[in-house]
Amino acid sequence: MGVVVLGIESTAHTFGAGVFDSSGGRILANERSVFSPPAGRGMIPRDCADHHSAECGAVLGRVFSKVKPGEIGAVAYSRGPGLGPVLRVGLACARSLSGSLGRPLVGVNHAVAHIEVGKWATKARDPVVLYVSGGNTQVIALSSGRYRVFGETLDIPIGNALDVLARNLGLPFPGGPRIEELASRGAKLIDLPYVVKGMDLSYSGLLTHCTRLAKTEKLEDVCFSFQEHCFAMLAEVTERAVAHTGKSEVMAVGGVAANRRLAQMLRTMCEERGAEFTVVPLEYAGDNGAMIAVTGALMAARPEKPEDATVDQRFRVDEQDVFW
Ligand code: AMP
Ligand code: MG
Repeated sequence: MGVVVLGIESTAHTFGAGVFDSSGGRILANERSVFSPPAGRGMIPRDCADHHSAECGAVLGRVFSKVKPGEIGAVAYSRGPGLGPVLRVGLACARSLSGSLGRPLVGVNHAVAHIEVGKWATKARDPVVLYVSGGNTQVIALSSGRYRVFGETLDIPIGNALDVLARNLGLPFPGGPRIEELASRGAKLIDLPYVVKGMDLSYSGLLTHCTRLAKTEKLEDVCFSFQEHCFAMLAEVTERAVAHTGKSEVMAVGGVAANRRLAQMLRTMCEERGAEFTVVPLEYAGDNGAMIAVTGALMAARPEKPEDATVDQRFRVDEQDVFW
């Protein structure tokens, strides 16, 4: 039996609301409002939460102009991981909608949601997942009923590294697309630290190094070299996960998956191994409400009691049973 699920995403800078109809396998709405910090300032959780509180009404208004509230069969929200004050805005919103609509509430792991919407969008069945976003960098694959982490960053996530490098270079937020654009005009490959430890990665040394280099080298070359090193590290760990698991698909998800150079490196690696490579389409790559709705529909058979609904800033992807 199908269900129509409203999904609320609120873990970081994006407040999103989306609706998924599992009987038709269709996304009926996907609206968002993204907070961007003032120039030179990082993303402060309280500022983000204030933005989401102010914007959630308008975002939901746009969703309900496409889907009637009465059609909603369950309300899903991102339980974590994420920024505490921001998660609580999403939960408050979901809890009040679930109460007023008289529909069950489903708490969703944000990383699982990136994977499930990716599988929905790309038709990948059982991929090795490279999850690269502002807040996360992990290589994940399904094994014995859980999404297991095969490798991850030991310090900052790749998206955060790109955003901070951009800020240090005087470029606007979000940094990823600006660095990609500058990198496409870079020609000189500067030798940088290449930090892969077993299956894990580290970006903070690279970031410090590149921030210093920008004083003497061309920005285009710094961005080019930063990307080449960071993405080669990701491709190496992903390749080892493919070799280890024996899976035949690789799927890139998260905002950084929008990067064409990263996709090119992963595609080359997959071609050499005879694996299939897919990237989540842009609309569903960054944080969005539809991904919470898609996952909520998979989990709708096991809703939670409203009084048990909570947030978990450190909700790891491998803590969620993949019972569906
Ligand atoms: P998310 O956290 O999934 O919403 O993704 C946001 C992150 O994706 C930010 O760190 C952005 O800088 C990054 N991003 C977006 N577009 C690109 C791009 N074309 N190349 C690299 N990073 C990107
Ligand atoms: Mg995300």
